[in-house]
Amino acid sequence: MTGNNQHVWQPSHVQGVSLLELAEKFGTPLYVYDGAQIVERYNYFVASFDRRIPLAVKFACKALPSLAIIELLHRCGAGVDAVSIEEVELALRTGVPAKDICFTPNCVNFEEIQKGVEYGVIVNIDDLSLLERFGHTYGSRVGCGIRINPHIVAGGNPHIQVGHIDSKFGISILQLRHLLRIVQNYGIRVVGLHMHTGSDIYDPEVFVQAASVLFDVAEHFPDLEFIDLGSGFKVPYKPDDVATDIRAFGQTMSQAFLEFCERYGRMLALWFEPGKYLVSQAGYLLVEVTVVKQTVSSLFVGVNSGFNHLIRPMFYDAYHHIVNLSNPQGKPRIYSVVGYICETDTFAWDRPIAEVREGDILCIMNAGAYGIAMSSNYNARRRPAEVLVLDGIPYLIRRRETLEDLIAPQRTLSEVMQQHSPLRTHEHFG
Ligand SMILES: *Cc1c(COP(=O)(O)O)cnc(C)c1O
Repeated sequence: MTGNNQHVWQPSHVQGVSLLELAEKFGTPLYVYDGAQIVERYNYFVASFDRRIPLAVKFACKALPSLAIIELLHRCGAGVDAVSIEEVELALRTGVPAKDICFTPNCVNFEEIQKGVEYGVIVNIDDLSLLERFGHTYGSRVGCGIRINPHIVAGGNPHIQVGHIDSKFGISILQLRHLLRIVQNYGIRVVGLHMHTGSDIYDPEVFVQAASVLFDVAEHFPDLEFIDLGSGFKVPYKPDDVATDIRAFGQTMSQAFLEFCERYGRMLALWFEPGKYLVSQAGYLLVEVTVVKQTVSSLFVGVNSGFNHLIRPMFYDAYHHIVNLSNPQGKPRIYSVVGYICETDTFAWDRPIAEVREGDILCIMNAGAYGIAMSSNYNARRRPAEVLVLDGIPYLIRRRETLEDLIAPQRTLSEVMQQHSPLRTHEHFG
């Protein structure tokens, strides 16, 4: 497998375990993850780079922040890239040591950065005024990474490009002089340079181009320990779709990096922060067909899930391949697959799918990344369960939410009014 093109577009089993049986056993909607594929992709990624380079892979856990997945990748050797202090805490709780966690927040207050420093994780700072406060507070005592925006526009989807000139991410390469002044002023120890220019970068050349901007900047920083090239690798969403050729990328990038290290004068560590690449294709969302509805214009398939469980089609116009597990040999017809949320809620428009009947189980593919991660309780719907298949064994790693889970943080009006009875209010103001 491992390569990008041998992806199976007609799934029925994961490591010999039938998806239909999983749907039956655990109920639907259900997220299923193929642990073997995640491990394989991690190993394939690492093996694509020159062995002489000290490589570190930090799993961008925002893509799939489930504890068991973070732990699985950590067992393989991966660290974690966190974009919020909560993700840092999730990773620490999972047992990932602070030294393997990098924290790359955007638009957070200084207290959150301080908390990261207290936990002992490496913080990538992406704003000049925060950097100034960092220098003012820590001087040269605590090292940090700097997130640079090289303004190389990458990725096909404008929703997920973050490297353009009016992006909110990173410190602009055009502000380098200002950046250097702050660093010198406070004696800040810059131990890493970071970039992350967006998702769905298909062309390795674009990546190398952006990296070379970082390599040029690196000459101004003598204390570097790592170069963090972020992520954004594209995965295929449909048969014959293009994907980043990780093997070729690893070779080209390794060569460019080794040459850079030679110029720089010593070997640095090379970090990446893949999210989607590691988990997207390993995830399946299984849903049940509730209605098949012929209208004057379309043939709709309604399912027992919606954008509350997988928002990418509605949010990014993302394509997710859909397969009918219950009737794989059925004659394909053209359907629009829609969810149960009470507003426009479409998983797929005008899509050929093997004939669908009410009660069939559909498999929505590429659901590992930004699936459950971006789920919500909209319409008071509960989040699905998650199953991780490892060594042929399906493990329930997140139980389905209950009504109690929705209610637990809340108080009814009667309850709060009772607590603030006239007597108590009187005492309070007295
Ligand atoms: C989102 C994000 C990633 C992961 O991006 P993918 O496209 O899922 O691989 C990595 N680094 C940072 C800083 C991010 O914000």
